[in-house]
Amino acid sequence: MTPEEIRRQLEYYRDLGIKDLYRREGKAEVGKAEARPAASAETLVEIELPEIELPGLAPAGDTLDRIRGDIGDCTRCRLHQGRNKLVFGVGNPAAKLVFVGEGPGADEDAQGIPFVGRAGQLLTQMIENTAAKEGIPLKRADVYICNVVKCRPPENRTPEPDEMEICGQFLFRQLSAIQPKAICALGSTAAKALLGGRDGVTKLRGKWHKWRETPLLVTYHPSYLLRPYNQNAKREAWEDLKKVFHFVFD
Ligand code: URA
Repeated sequence: MTPEEIRRQLEYYRDLGIKDLYRREGKAEVGKAEARPAASAETLVEIELPEIELPGLAPAGDTLDRIRGDIGDCTRCRLHQGRNKLVFGVGNPAAKLVFVGEGPGADEDAQGIPFVGRAGQLLTQMIENTAAKEGIPLKRADVYICNVVKCRPPENRTPEPDEMEICGQFLFRQLSAIQPKAICALGSTAAKALLGGRDGVTKLRGKWHKWRETPLLVTYHPSYLLRPYNQNAKREAWEDLKKVFHFVFD
């Protein structure tokens, strides 16, 4: 393997979240590793990495354009198979507030823009109307909106843990590049991706948590609020948004 091929391979593992590599002694040849005595094939030894500088998980000076470039025409997980458009994110790259949803639906997949379907229209109204009522001049374009997974899951199913893990690396880079004052996680998939743990929205919502050092508030996903029997949750979501807005913009 050439150093370039090794670099690509290591980047691929990195995107999968694999940080330690091992090899079976006597099998793979990496760089110019010394000849080793024929050993039991089951012995695992730490790999000798060639002297190549690998980009970190969030390279210094990372930008949204660079992250989009690194995602490329992604085939890292099965979700690419049904994709029309990859949905990276939209909004102000220097936003003080980032909303994170679950994954694109049919409208988002068709347009390549997050939250443009019914749930998206509700989210836009919630952002703009709540802010206006609170005397905060905020439009959708002032915040940044993205999802945990960038490709539409078939039949809008919940993303699988491995899909969240692979795509989550890019979400984390987006958040690190934007450095918002706060994050608003919409629904339990976003909450899980950013906070870990198993608690659902009912338990997590309305309170401050942290993603790394950034304050994070969890609220209901707008799709949940569209169901007619969830009107109480709508009121709570409104309260959650007010809380985030005053924290970020006062
Ligand atoms: N639901 C999401 O979680 N994200 C979108 O972009 C649209 C609907």
